[in-house]
Amino acid sequence: MHVDFACPACETAQRASIAPDAAELCCLHCSWKKPLESSLTSNGEATECPVCSCTDLWKQKDFPPKIGLTLVGLGILLSTLAWADLRPVLAIGVLMGFALLDLVLYALMPDVLVCYRCDARLRDTTIEETHPRFDLEVHERYRQESMRVTSARS
Ligand SMILES: [Zn+2]
Ligand SMILES: [Zn+2]
Repeated sequence: MHVDFACPACETAQRASIAPDAAELCCLHCSWKKPLESSLTSNGEATECPVCSCTDLWKQKDFPPKIGLTLVGLGILLSTLAWADLRPVLAIGVLMGFALLDLVLYALMPDVLVCYRCDARLRDTTIEETHPRFDLEVHERYRQESMRVTSARS
């Protein structure tokens, strides 16, 4: 399993790989480390965030938003050029082609698990088809929790 996370101590974003028998997760840039529970996964699926131990994880498509936006932008540009050239069929064809490409890419992209509390992203782990997707209510709960923590510190 790989985890993309920001170190809780020095806030450096990094990627770590976690072997099934790894005993701890360490920051590459400072001395932060966290012991890992052996119960981190059940049936190969991560049940808990290795960074903050939060057990609420949601499933997301590992689709880089930049690629999606670039495709949409390119599609609009090309179809506008076709419109300007008085070729409406081509213009619509171009748009539909890009929409289809977007759909195909989306279907091919693997899922990742995202931690509600610290936004760590877990890759290369088994994810059940039934794993819940993003839930605004849970997200709101964690957002308020983090606001309370921040205001308690200041
Ligand atoms: Zn660190
Ligand atoms: Zn976390």
